[in-house]
Amino acid sequence: MTHLDITARSLGDSSHDEPDIIIEGGILITMVDGEDPINPARVCVKKNRIVDVQVMDEAFSSPANAEVIDASGCIIMPGLINSHCHTPMTLFRGSADDLPLREWLYDKIFPMESEHLRPETVYWGSLLGCLEMIASGTTSLMDGYFFEDDTVQAVHRAGLRAHLAQGVIDFPAPGVPDPGENLIKATEFIEKWVGFSDLISPGMFCHSPATCSEKTLRGAMEISRGFSLPLQIHLSETSDEVDEIIKKTGQRPVHYLNKLDILDEGLVAAHAIHLTRDEIELLAERGVRIVHVPESNMKLSSGAAKIAEMVSLGMKVGLGTDGCASNNDLDLFQEMDTAAKLGKVSTGDPVNMEAGTVLKMATSWGGAVLGIEQEVGTIEKGKKADIIVIDLQSPHLVPLYNPFSSLVYSANGADVRDVIVDGQILLRDRIFQTLDPEEIMEKVRALTSTFGLNT
Ligand SMILES: [Zn+2]
Repeated sequence: MTHLDITARSLGDSSHDEPDIIIEGGILITMVDGEDPINPARVCVKKNRIVDVQVMDEAFSSPANAEVIDASGCIIMPGLINSHCHTPMTLFRGSADDLPLREWLYDKIFPMESEHLRPETVYWGSLLGCLEMIASGTTSLMDGYFFEDDTVQAVHRAGLRAHLAQGVIDFPAPGVPDPGENLIKATEFIEKWVGFSDLISPGMFCHSPATCSEKTLRGAMEISRGFSLPLQIHLSETSDEVDEIIKKTGQRPVHYLNKLDILDEGLVAAHAIHLTRDEIELLAERGVRIVHVPESNMKLSSGAAKIAEMVSLGMKVGLGTDGCASNNDLDLFQEMDTAAKLGKVSTGDPVNMEAGTVLKMATSWGGAVLGIEQEVGTIEKGKKADIIVIDLQSPHLVPLYNPFSSLVYSANGADVRDVIVDGQILLRDRIFQTLDPEEIMEKVRALTSTFGLNT
């Protein structure tokens, strides 16, 4: 079966909805289960929603005021969803490489964060991350860090969709010198930003079961449940961390979190590498949302999560880049390529983690991880207009037999030509529409030049 079959159908009558934006002429990958690509397609957007998805009809006449995006020679697809990142860590990109995780975290990252993070650096580092994400086709992100107020401001200015969480840890942290106040500060953060924007939801992010106490973990989940918001956590990233939890509690991390009564669909767990079959089954049974972070896990030599096993149990796993100090970029196209290949090499099975599954992780399943799968992650009539256009006019994308394979194994973020979030164009012909890249890069260069991190 070819993926380029023309599917003769129209998902709606557009006569009552004069679109503001029309994207036409490209191969549409809707990411709706079971749907083949539509080629050539037309996607109509009115305000912030997709109002029509159809095979391109030559007889169609565009309303005079509509912005028409000619996607001939391109792929049209849902915007990518980065389900785990620490956006302002762009500030530390390339400053602490080729180190074991413990040394990387305790000797490099925590001291650098303590010395250099302040509202201004977090704001500009977040803007740099937003630039990079827009330029590589990310339209939604799930983030957790310190001084998260400033990340909210940056993401809002960029026009991205996001769940942004204030970091919680039982050490003195940037902006939260007294760990006894970590939950108070995080609650104030949520209260400040809840309802601020339709595109941004606030939340809490517990660093890990090893760095947060039982009381903190229980409290964070109780507060998150009170706001009907997810709670993020790093889970079983290294075998050392698992040993530490076993030593401290007598239980493996997943069983420990279960004992604390925080293991349910409200928990979003990143990494999830060192798990027994029993732990994976418990996570699946409780509906815990998992985020795969393959490049960071490879770079820090943390291990390979058993994603295929989780998927076989019906879990919808998201895909994340982690922060730029452990990746070192925010390009989800590269992350998809890596996720597929790590899935194969870690199991010895080349059939494992095929391109279609990996694309779901970065789109529709990512929407499920963020709890917004009814609104984003697929191109369907009625959904929010989060759409990207990938330019195929490059040697590494010729010929095109299977768009799924080309997107996962050949494309990279620089092939993204246009980006729309919530009906607003953020990137048009690779020109930023909401941010000034020169201003942001210059500001980050100036701020980081005072860090003294050059080797
Ligand atoms: Zn992380």
